[in-house]
Amino acid sequence: MIEDVPGLERCTYLPEHGNDGYRVGHYDLELDYRVGPNRLSASARLSAVATAPLVRFDLDLGPFRVARVLIDGRAGRFRQRRDKLHVTPPRALGAGQRFTVEVRYTGNPRPVTSPWGGLGWEQLTDGSLVAGQPTGAPSWFPCNDRADHKASFRISLTTASAYHVVANGRETGRRRSGATTTWVYEQDEPMAPYLASVQIGRYQTTEIPGRVPQRLVHPGPAAGRVRYDFGRQGEMIAAFEERFGPYPFGAYTVVVADDELEIPVEAQGMSVFGTNHVDGRRGAERLVAHELAHQWFGNSLTLARWRDIWLHEGFATYAEWLWAEASGGESADEHALRWHGRLAGQPQDLVLADPGVERIFDDRVYKRGALTLHALRRTMGEGRFFPMLREWTAAHRHGTVTTEDFTRLAERHAAQTPEPLFAAWLYGRRLPRLP
Ligand SMILES: [Zn+2]
Repeated sequence: MIEDVPGLERCTYLPEHGNDGYRVGHYDLELDYRVGPNRLSASARLSAVATAPLVRFDLDLGPFRVARVLIDGRAGRFRQRRDKLHVTPPRALGAGQRFTVEVRYTGNPRPVTSPWGGLGWEQLTDGSLVAGQPTGAPSWFPCNDRADHKASFRISLTTASAYHVVANGRETGRRRSGATTTWVYEQDEPMAPYLASVQIGRYQTTEIPGRVPQRLVHPGPAAGRVRYDFGRQGEMIAAFEERFGPYPFGAYTVVVADDELEIPVEAQGMSVFGTNHVDGRRGAERLVAHELAHQWFGNSLTLARWRDIWLHEGFATYAEWLWAEASGGESADEHALRWHGRLAGQPQDLVLADPGVERIFDDRVYKRGALTLHALRRTMGEGRFFPMLREWTAAHRHGTVTTEDFTRLAERHAAQTPEPLFAAWLYGRRLPRLP
């Protein structure tokens, strides 16, 4: 899918990530991976269109050894510097011209460094995972690493047959050849590069059929705890569909990696948890709800600029409260009062709609974001708030969104203008009173 968002300024939070001058419509990744030595040997074929005349263009790619770069099948010149691959095609590309670029590369994938710690491809004790948000995609494939440039993907990964491999989308092939197996996944719905993921481990799977099929992928010994802890996910999907509209992808996969993880992380159609999030007593069900909600808010509706991160994290946090409310736990009102009290005791120096790049994952963004939605719900009333949310997910399904898109929509649905509410909650620093 190729589309441009007219009049949208470039993300200023991560100016070194992503490139101008072209859009990728499809990524075809052929990966050959050896778990023990953490060795990746790969070929990535990107189908793109030039959006301006191009004498050269750049891709985001970590420190791999690049053997060659082909543009429409012909060798191009290239140079690597920091996490960029500069490519000069044999012939300049005209605006609107479609082209393919194929990159052959090898190396030991490792997380990229960031203000939020290592991101992307990570070696586990016996396997690997990818947690790409927000800048980890170049740790394993060449891309135009912009959240607002979504594309379809085909991911093929070959590794020793002892391992189970998961990637985004539907499994379209599994071929065993000698001691290795090739797994093929296709993601048809457009996906931001940072949401692309592969998970490799000695895993078992539990399939749960339903209108939205669920797949649980986990270490064998954790099967009982995993099945219990994610046992209410079907009800959760139903509760969220009622409030947010239809689940946006064909299926939902939960991977419990065979290691402890600091936090769970979302990928498209998938969430990744650590063994420490599974206690067999649903002790982390709040996080189960949070990651599931990202399928609507973050993965289907993806921010166009990272400063709009509250459109992901505020909504996913609010979904935790909605699930608690729907499942007979604490009401959203009770959550809101408690968190409002806690935020009141913290520094009030953060603007929710523009928190600053180093603070996009600050917990205040999550909680104030959820409080903003609750304030809006209290002001608009149930009868207007939830239909508005459902229109939000329908109108921007598989697209990119900004805070202004959301406030304009709320403006249309509210009986009284919510403008003062947004001015205080989104653009002011001081914590407003709850309506
Ligand atoms: Zn989140």
